[in-house]
Amino acid sequence: PYDVLIVGGGPAGAAAGVYAARKGIRTGIAAERFGGQVNDTLAIENYISVLETDGPKLAAALEAHAKAYDVDIMNLQKAAQIIPAAKPGDLIQVKMENGGTLKAKTVILSTGARWRNVNVPGEAEYKNKGVAYCPHCDGPLFKGKRTAVIGGGNSGVEAAIDLAGIVAHVTLIEFADTLKADAVLVNKLKSLPNVTIHTNAQTTEITGAEGKVNGLKYKDRATGEEHTVPLEGVFVQIGLVPNTEFLRGTVELSKFGEIIVDAKGHTNVPGVFAAGDCTTVPYKQIVIAAGAGATAALSAFDHLIRQG
Ligand code: FAD
Repeated sequence: PYDVLIVGGGPAGAAAGVYAARKGIRTGIAAERFGGQVNDTLAIENYISVLETDGPKLAAALEAHAKAYDVDIMNLQKAAQIIPAAKPGDLIQVKMENGGTLKAKTVILSTGARWRNVNVPGEAEYKNKGVAYCPHCDGPLFKGKRTAVIGGGNSGVEAAIDLAGIVAHVTLIEFADTLKADAVLVNKLKSLPNVTIHTNAQTTEITGAEGKVNGLKYKDRATGEEHTVPLEGVFVQIGLVPNTEFLRGTVELSKFGEIIVDAKGHTNVPGVFAAGDCTTVPYKQIVIAAGAGATAALSAFDHLIRQG
């Protein structure tokens, strides 16, 4: 059995792997896709001390760092279920989709999250070519350009306020007839000179030419009229979904499906820790996920030395 089995190989899982292996304990990482969301990222300019990198480069660097230690990396392996220890000292079991079972004294869950897509023509085609999901990450790439934000909840309105300080103009598109964000945010948004808000508006297409976004089409749901907004960027802000469906009923989740963790990465299940975008950690970023992975590994080590 593993001393520490890490489920998920993004920045959180890779950091947990390095920290666990450096304690000289038996460490494994099972990941559906090593590198996680980082693989889908173009420019990364906010991983501290790395001035600029890109997704594939950082993903390869994460893997190389974990492989520099004695870590079993099981790539393309998806966990389907976790079975907690029946009594203290028993092993935790992780059932894999391929039918196998991995056993461990402690488990770190770092399965990350995925952005909810709007599923309109052009979204997939222009992902990273004008279609973006993370304003903290990609906002500066649209400096001086025209952008839209799809989604008028807290994250959409925060994104629009954030972007309005960087880009030339922001169009906010909300499907419902009112913005769902907190009133203080909505008031702030409405006070900004370079923001236009369309409610009751259904995005129907993201258009582009020569491999880049050049506009967004939406339908006014009251009149049925179609409108086109010329722009260079579209931020989709309709939710971040944690990859925790397989944990329902075993590990305590928030109403958003995030694994509830304390400051040390403990879940409600003894010996099971969690880190990164799949948890209640505030702000979902690479540097934050990596830090949380280190925390979870140190907590798992703490747990092991107390078990005798
Ligand atoms: P993830 O990176 O999501 O990794 C999760 C891991 O778990 C993956 O290996 C996945 O395959 C695996 N997994 C999932 N389910 C299972 C399962 N059941 N069994 C086994 N393995 C499983 N952040 C920044 O700081 N800067 C940026 O510039 C930036 N740009 C971004 C651009 C895009 C397009 C996106 C999508 C995100 C961006 N982010 C950026 C956010 C950043 O990528 C995440 O915060 C970070 O990757 C979270 O790390 P994580 O390890 O928690 O999860």
